[in-house]
Amino acid sequence: MKSREKISKQSIFNFYHSIRFRLVIWFVLILGVVMVIFSGFIFWRQSQDIHSIALGRLNVTIEHTLGQSEAEHGFEQAQNVFSVLPGGTPELNTNVQVDSVVAILATDGSIIQSTGILSTNQIGQLNLPLPGWKGVEQASIPKTAAIQNDRYLFINPAIVQNGVITGYLLVGVPLDPNNQLRRLLVTLVIGNLLTLAIALTGGFWLADQALRPVQTITQTARQIGETDLNRRLHLPGRDELSELGNTFDDMLDRLQAAFMRQKQFTADASHELRTPLTIIELETSRMLSNRRSVDEYERVLRTIQSENKFMIRLVTNLLALARMDAGQMSLKSEPVDLGGLVSEVIERMAPLAKAQGVNLNIGDLTDITITGDRSTLTQMFTNLVENAIKYSAGVANPRVDVSSGKREEADRVLAWVRVQDNGIGIAAEHQARLFDRFYQADSSRTRRANVEGDTNEAESSGTGLGLAIAQWIAHAHHGEIHVESIGGQGSIFEVVLPAGNPVN
Ligand code: ADP
Repeated sequence: MKSREKISKQSIFNFYHSIRFRLVIWFVLILGVVMVIFSGFIFWRQSQDIHSIALGRLNVTIEHTLGQSEAEHGFEQAQNVFSVLPGGTPELNTNVQVDSVVAILATDGSIIQSTGILSTNQIGQLNLPLPGWKGVEQASIPKTAAIQNDRYLFINPAIVQNGVITGYLLVGVPLDPNNQLRRLLVTLVIGNLLTLAIALTGGFWLADQALRPVQTITQTARQIGETDLNRRLHLPGRDELSELGNTFDDMLDRLQAAFMRQKQFTADASHELRTPLTIIELETSRMLSNRRSVDEYERVLRTIQSENKFMIRLVTNLLALARMDAGQMSLKSEPVDLGGLVSEVIERMAPLAKAQGVNLNIGDLTDITITGDRSTLTQMFTNLVENAIKYSAGVANPRVDVSSGKREEADRVLAWVRVQDNGIGIAAEHQARLFDRFYQADSSRTRRANVEGDTNEAESSGTGLGLAIAQWIAHAHHGEIHVESIGGQGSIFEVVLPAGNPVN
């Protein structure tokens, strides 16, 4: 019960903080303000009109009051009208409109004569600065009059005879006899409320429609687990949210690919380690099952040693890749003489080449300085030269040539190092995946075909990580490794690195 309450509180909280809610509230608020301003303007214009109509009626009532047509005179001139009346107190016309107020006041303000809707008493109760003010006054007539339209316009011109004020005329007409303003107000209020209610519901519906893809994205993101990376949104349309959905799908593609690579990497690494471990286990079990000759013990110990060496190389490479992936490789940025570095590598690899019967040659080495990390660069070239020796040993007249130089490309000076061999080459279908981790194009060359293990072969066999590491190093130096190869005819690996001083 409590948890249900908690959930509903949470969903109310979520609702108030949702974009949907904020969007609609802002929309309705702005619409409300605009409508209030607009309605206020209409109301003001209407009240102005009603006021001027009431002034017109006031004028007409004055004329009626006098019992004669003086239409050409405005009420402002009532004073003159009275002054020309033929002596005595003017007679009030009994035909004045029922809803008007008409009275004649003495100079002290006492009411002499009245007609119209108010009694003499009620006229006395009017909140007016009687007698004799200038212009038009608006006043409410007393509640006792039982009249709906209680706002009246009054005028109070003086009655002048022979230049002497003998009294005052009080004339009042209803400001809004048909209650137009009140009806307009009711209409505007109801209209505004209705419009806002429609805007509120419509706004929620619209926001719901517009934000539905976001809900889909949220739900899908929630459902995606580590093992369920193949879910996609596939949002239809071409709007911003579909674009977001497509970007999300692309990101999932990349994540899935990275996840699969990681999985594959772990599987490959375990597989690579399992083989030497199995060999060691088999050999030691066999040796321990019976007494063996010293020669046999020695042979098995050599096998174990060689498998161990392979595992050390594998684990070292794995560690290097793990550190590269984790960004823990701190590469120095020092000037490196590329030609010098390459000849050092060749010198170090010469004994291996000799042992394998491979003719290792230094071609043209141009003097060129690059900026980079000497030890990782050495590792990269070692991997390439080692591969060239390894994959050419065994062919007729095996030969490896290493050369370097520079060229200009797109306003940059590029240094290149080429390692060329006439070995087994790489078939076109393998070339695209050559730099993938654990990828080995030539399975016949891998020792895994023979679990019994030949000591030398185990020691020299590849881990399938050398090129992946070399490529990482090239990329870390803003360079590239290209390969050109024809199966059975040899390969050329070319490393291209930006030279120290870019061309201006
Ligand atoms: P490995 O340790 O197996 O040599 P690499 O990553 O260094 O692993 O190389 C990957 C694969 O590329 C090798 O297994 C081999 O099939 C192929 N390869 C690399 N260099 C050469 C070369 N110079 N000639 C022929 N094949 C090569």
